[in-house]
Amino acid sequence: MSSVPPGSGWPEDPASPETPVAGTPEEVRALAGSSRDLGELTARQSVCRACPRLVEWREDVARVKRRAFMDETYWGRPIAGWGDDRPRVLIVGLAPAAHGGNRTGRVFTGDRSGDWLFASLHRTGLAALPTSTHAGDGQRLLGARMVAAVRCAPPANKPAVEEREACLPWLARELEMVAEPVRVVVCLGGYAWQAVWPALRAAGYTLPRSRPPFGHGAEVELSYRGAPVRMLGCYHPSQQNTFTGRVTAPMLDAVFTRAADVGGLGGSVESEVRH
Ligand code: SF4
Repeated sequence: MSSVPPGSGWPEDPASPETPVAGTPEEVRALAGSSRDLGELTARQSVCRACPRLVEWREDVARVKRRAFMDETYWGRPIAGWGDDRPRVLIVGLAPAAHGGNRTGRVFTGDRSGDWLFASLHRTGLAALPTSTHAGDGQRLLGARMVAAVRCAPPANKPAVEEREACLPWLARELEMVAEPVRVVVCLGGYAWQAVWPALRAAGYTLPRSRPPFGHGAEVELSYRGAPVRMLGCYHPSQQNTFTGRVTAPMLDAVFTRAADVGGLGGSVESEVRH
């Protein structure tokens, strides 16, 4: 099987067999724009087929699999936004991993990057459990939501420019739908930092004229309908970054503690320890 049929019993599957499928970038724009709520939007995201190269890749990977996961069924579909429907903290990555999200059906789940990320989110009070292994595992985000700027796993982790543009309406509509409570946008890596900028603008955020450079701990002041919103940069917890020590657990915790504080969630490593 190359992908899980919508509504066939996969845990947390937002779609049903009746969910309309976008087959072109124009249809992405139309279906994102006409989605009335997050449930409808994430369902439509999760069945999208607008980028032929990415559809072929994600489904090939799901069919061939990696030896370690040979006995598993791969999701093989786009990875929809996931987490709190009224988040204070929004976490943005670039794209799911071929054997991570594309296998497990949940953003940042099933690879080493996700292991680092969820451990930090748990230490800082933003995730219920220290691990995220699979859709339906009981994990929950607490006042936070995660989205990928590009929703399908790309070859070599590199989406093409036209694929980023095709996926942008899904991201922009999701940012718009959750904007009212969001106070912090955390970007994991420089690509996410770049990719979220036009989506924030399209979603109605007020941004500085030019995008400041990305860095770990970088902060930018934005606003949404007059309410302040902080954008935070965070090095991506990729294997390369964690192996080389470019990003460490305390560095991740510092960013998410800051995010929780700005978001009014009061999470911190210290408070977790005290509890
Ligand atoms: S990358 Fe986005 S627009 Fe392209 S097929 Fe996947 S979900 Fe659709």
